[in-house]
Amino acid sequence: MSDTIFSKIINREISADIIFEDDISLAFKDVNPQAPIHFLVIPKKPIATINAITEEDRLVVGHLFYVAAKLADEMGFAEEGYRTVMNCNEFGGQSVYHIHLHVLGGKLMGWPPYTDKPKALE
Ligand code: 5GP
Repeated sequence: MSDTIFSKIINREISADIIFEDDISLAFKDVNPQAPIHFLVIPKKPIATINAITEEDRLVVGHLFYVAAKLADEMGFAEEGYRTVMNCNEFGGQSVYHIHLHVLGGKLMGWPPYTDKPKALE
């Protein structure tokens, strides 16, 4: 758990385009952007999935949204709007097991957010 790629980014063992950091969180640009603006806000505490969030983590997880909104405001796309996504496990499309809030902006988002038939309906 502690050696996911995101822990390595927190520890500066691998590089990332970091746009914000505080005691609780780190935000950096997604290496494979899915929108003109696409960054991730992660807790420094390694929490594997949404399912692993404990009662004591509630303020940490809420902080991720606070940081997302603060950066959207500072970067100038808060008013036009944006999408936040946190994927959970296989069916949610999670690939890195350290929770992260995707922040996507700079284009009009579609809904529903998937393009393929969900596995659950196959
Ligand atoms: P997930 O699929 O788990 O919801 O999202 C993981 C995200 O992390 C993906 O959008 C992927 O592009 C991004 N990602 C994976 N490895 C790295 C990396 O080494 N650096 C950065 N900046 N993003 C990464």
